[in-house]
Amino acid sequence: MPAQILDGKTLAARVTDELRARVAACIAAGRAAPGLAVVLVGEDAASQVYVRNKRRTTDGVGMRSLAFDLPASVSESELLALIGRLNDDPSVNGILVQLPLPAHVSAERVIEAIDPKKDVDGFHPYNIGRLVLRMPTLRPCTPFGCMRLLAATGEDLVGRHAVVIGQSNIVGRPMALELLMARCTVTICHSATRDLPGLVRQADIVVAAIGKANFVQGSWIKDGAMVIDVGINRGADGKLVGDVDFEAARERAGWLTPVPGGVGPMTIATLLSNTLQAAQMQDA
Ligand code: NAD
Repeated sequence: MPAQILDGKTLAARVTDELRARVAACIAAGRAAPGLAVVLVGEDAASQVYVRNKRRTTDGVGMRSLAFDLPASVSESELLALIGRLNDDPSVNGILVQLPLPAHVSAERVIEAIDPKKDVDGFHPYNIGRLVLRMPTLRPCTPFGCMRLLAATGEDLVGRHAVVIGQSNIVGRPMALELLMARCTVTICHSATRDLPGLVRQADIVVAAIGKANFVQGSWIKDGAMVIDVGINRGADGKLVGDVDFEAARERAGWLTPVPGGVGPMTIATLLSNTLQAAQMQDA
């Protein structure tokens, strides 16, 4: 039986509808609409698309989107000074710096400069540390969005073998921590992993975050597995494709996320739920 499609677009719409109602209730109670500052450096085409979608969705739920578009030539100290001003501005509840940054700017230093209470991407060492210790506060958006997709299957995750392909700080590593917190047995794979197909064949849950189009073959997927495809790649025809060979995986998986329309919308919905959470923490 072909896999059931895990429809991230519909789930994200449900999350944003609920957020819109909660933001309206905050405003009705006399509080300001949460403000999200999105900092974009340079003119990377993919980053521009992501940032446009984030800003549009922020406005769509009734929050305030504050745009800071800087040239690629901006110096690290100028960017750090902006972060400092946003940290001090009480009308800014969340700060997101779109990655990647130009090579002359240290992403680590910029992320560490963000006030952890405003770190709605959840990348600050403080927030990652809390996730490591099973005390999550602001959680990295893509992995947390993937967990919401897995929850939407209604399947019990406890004791399942989860194979995460990719070990980046923003997807693979926090994803593994989320799955561990959900009491999965977790294997993290990366470019030096031996026998990736053999490991994926054992997986009840596969999370692919590699950045290589159609890299994960359908024949690697265990019958009935839950497959979450984080990858966003542009195919030769200009269309977006994931890291998993969708058509072939569909024949074996139990659940499968499409690209587009799977993880991407859930990342943005989670960013906004983090922003509301940040605003509420700052209000308390
Ligand atoms: P990255 O380049 O930082 O990390 C890629 C990882 O893949 C690395 O850990 C590397 O070791 C691993 N890898 C590379 N080749 C491999 C191989 N042959 N076998 C096993 N592992 C291999 O990328 P990232 O930032 O983690 O993003 C991964 C993908 O997810 C990209 O396509 C990116 O566009 C996408 N992404 C999507 C969202 C979303 O919201 N849908 C969010 C973030 C990233």
